[in-house]
Amino acid sequence: MKICNTCGKLLPDTEFTTERWDCKYCRRFKDIKRRYGITEEDYIRMWKAQEGKCALCGKELKDEYLYVDHDHKTGRVRGLLCHRCNVQLDELFEHNVTIGKIQEYLKE
Ligand SMILES: [Zn+2]
Ligand SMILES: [Zn+2]
Repeated sequence: MKICNTCGKLLPDTEFTTERWDCKYCRRFKDIKRRYGITEEDYIRMWKAQEGKCALCGKELKDEYLYVDHDHKTGRVRGLLCHRCNVQLDELFEHNVTIGKIQEYLKE
């Protein structure tokens, strides 16, 4: 058992990543803050606004599958996505494929 440096909870070792003194939960929000500049409250607010569902496919999100989607250019956070949508969106943008292009292609 270890005490988390951030939330002060006494938790089993499995709740910590190796050599870290923050529990996985706190660690995750620290990562999110560093990467996307949003706080735990922001994240929870978004989660509630989306009713715990992926912003794109509407799949119900289990906590561990939530990804913060952000605009790579502006850094603006767009929403929370499931792993699949997040990966696919990233790949599309990487290859410069826009939704407009896809729709156009499908119409033909
Ligand atoms: Zn903690
Ligand atoms: Zn999705």
